[in-house]
Amino acid sequence: MERDYKEIVAELKRTFANGTVQFRSDNNRPYIPNQVYTDRVESATESRWNLEIKELEINVPHRYVKSIVKIEIDVYSRDGYGFAVIPGDPATEPKNITTAVDQAVNEAYLTALDSYQMGWRDLAPYKKNDWAGNPALQHLLEHMNPGKEAKIAHSKEAIHRTCLVCNKVLTADEWELLSQVPNLNREKMTYCFEHIPDHLKRKINKDTLRKFEA
Ligand SMILES: [Zn+2]
Repeated sequence: MERDYKEIVAELKRTFANGTVQFRSDNNRPYIPNQVYTDRVESATESRWNLEIKELEINVPHRYVKSIVKIEIDVYSRDGYGFAVIPGDPATEPKNITTAVDQAVNEAYLTALDSYQMGWRDLAPYKKNDWAGNPALQHLLEHMNPGKEAKIAHSKEAIHRTCLVCNKVLTADEWELLSQVPNLNREKMTYCFEHIPDHLKRKINKDTLRKFEA
C-alpha cells in the first residue's frame, strides 16, 4: 500500500538516529549530512520523488552562481534556492566554477528540504539561542531529548512496513529501531522487535533496547 502525502511528510519530519547531527570542522556548527536527508526522502517516499534543477545561473563576470531546485513528492512540489560566490579568478582556476555550482545546487536542495522541517527536531537542541528558542517552536524541543523516554515511547502508528518473519506491520518505533543497527538496509531487512536476529540486536545501544523491552 502506498503512503499518502500526509504520511510521507510526517515521516520526513521525524527525528533521525542518535549521532546524526555532526559539527563542522571549521566553525563547529551543527549540521546533518546531505546523504542522510536523501536517504530519508528515499525511504519516506519509497523512491517516488523527483529532484529537478529549475534554474542555474552561472555568472562568471560577476563571479556568482545561483540555483533553484524543485523537489516533487506526490503531486506537490517545493522550491529551494542557493547561491555561491566563485572564488579567485575563474579564468585561471575554472575548477572554482564547478565547485561553486555544486555549492549553489547543494544549498538549494537543503533549502527545499528545510521547508519540510526535516531535521528540525534533531537540530533544535543546538539552536536554542537561535530559532529553536522561539516559544512558537517549543514543541520541537519537547519531543527531543533522546536520552529520556520521549523518543521511543511516542508514536505507535503503523507505517506500512511488515516483518519479514511474521508479516506483522511494524510500529513506527520498531521501524526507527532498525535505523539504529549500523549498516542495516532496513528497506530489505525489515523485522519486528521480536524477530530482529540476535547478532543485529547486539549492535543496538543497550539503553535503547532496554527501553524497548520495557
Ligand atoms: Zn516479526
